[in-house]
Amino acid sequence: KNIVIIGAGILGASAAYHLAKAGKNVTVIDRFDKGQATDAAAGIICPWISQRRNKAWYNMVKNGAKYYPTLIDQLEADGETETGYNRVGAISLHKDKEKLEKMAERAIKRRDEAPEIGEVTILSPEKTKELFPVLSDDYGSVHVSGGAKVNGRALRNALKNAAKKHGAQFLEGDAGLEVKDNQVTSVTLGEERVEADLFIVTGGAWAQEIFLGLGLKFEVVPQKAQIVHLEIDTKKTKDWPVVMPPNNQYILSFDDGRIVVGATHEDDAGFDARVTAGGMNEILSKALEIAPSLSEGTILETRVGFRPFTPGFLPIIGKLPNHDNVLIANGLGASGLTSGPFLGAELARLAMREQTVLDISNYDVAGAIRPLG
Ligand code: FAD
Repeated sequence: KNIVIIGAGILGASAAYHLAKAGKNVTVIDRFDKGQATDAAAGIICPWISQRRNKAWYNMVKNGAKYYPTLIDQLEADGETETGYNRVGAISLHKDKEKLEKMAERAIKRRDEAPEIGEVTILSPEKTKELFPVLSDDYGSVHVSGGAKVNGRALRNALKNAAKKHGAQFLEGDAGLEVKDNQVTSVTLGEERVEADLFIVTGGAWAQEIFLGLGLKFEVVPQKAQIVHLEIDTKKTKDWPVVMPPNNQYILSFDDGRIVVGATHEDDAGFDARVTAGGMNEILSKALEIAPSLSEGTILETRVGFRPFTPGFLPIIGKLPNHDNVLIANGLGASGLTSGPFLGAELARLAMREQTVLDISNYDVAGAIRPLG
């Protein structure tokens, strides 16, 4: 059985890895659009203190965070050690002690069903600053020892490399679905055609156009995110925890003094991949309020990515209606680094007709698709 995957962000790369590892014949086609979400993202894996109440969403991200250590072990066994994943813990900041107590309570309550949360501790402003020395003196925090950070680009590359070791083939270019007698039979790639029995579409924010040829409107929209990488003088930053400030931004560190701050949430920018003055202003002013000494940092690079959102801000996964041989997953939004590797494994299970961990009827594809016209 031949399987073609369109799109190699975190979702497509993970699905490819799991399928290739299970011995399937996999071809992946990726166009590497400017603004691939996975490539721009530097991410936090700490879904447990979110205030979002949607149960289906929480169940997905919870499973996503839980799956990471297992996946990283598998990749290491395949010789991929540069996964960009580091379970350094997370600190969620607030000036208000009561808010911190509520946050800790929420995390501790959720720990019964998610022991991977680890230790939950309220820290004084002094202790908080010891863990992340560039912060201002004003914030206490809740420390969650199971929190982690991941570099989207590094993890995607590790998944692709490991998939290749298991025989997956990667092609570059613009892929389209080809239909004969109401059946998807192959994927076009320029003048070429790749025939297959099963098709998996993981095209992120760009996936809408893939279904137009089938007379379907797939409701996915891009949300633009700009993000900034700085370098500071302190170089031993690798093991600093992830910082979640009370605003909707975050600060995280990688090796050698690299600090990542971001990101914007721009709903009306379409696929405009420019770095803008307004975007930089928003990110830097919010970051410097939390961590004033970052103002001495060198700007190393800026990245832009498009988070894919489906209706209700809820991811979807499953079969394309009326097309049993086309699987889709999309809409990972702002938490796709957390859920993506796990959801890729779920896609692989669907493709192999195995039982999924999630009840996928909670993420129904039909809700995001309607006939054109
Ligand atoms: P993408 O990574 O966008 O990949 C889709 C791929 O499909 C692209 O390469 C595209 O070129 C390709 N494609 C589309 N159409 C075609 C076609 N016709 N032919 C060939 N190829 C095609 N998540 C977290 O959990 N924590 C975080 O802290 C976090 N921070 C983020 C910060 C930023 C700046 C951004 C942008 C995102 C962040 N996210 C975070 C969200 C996460 O990155 C995304 O949800 C996730 O990467 C989406 O993955 P994807 O594989 O669905 O899409």
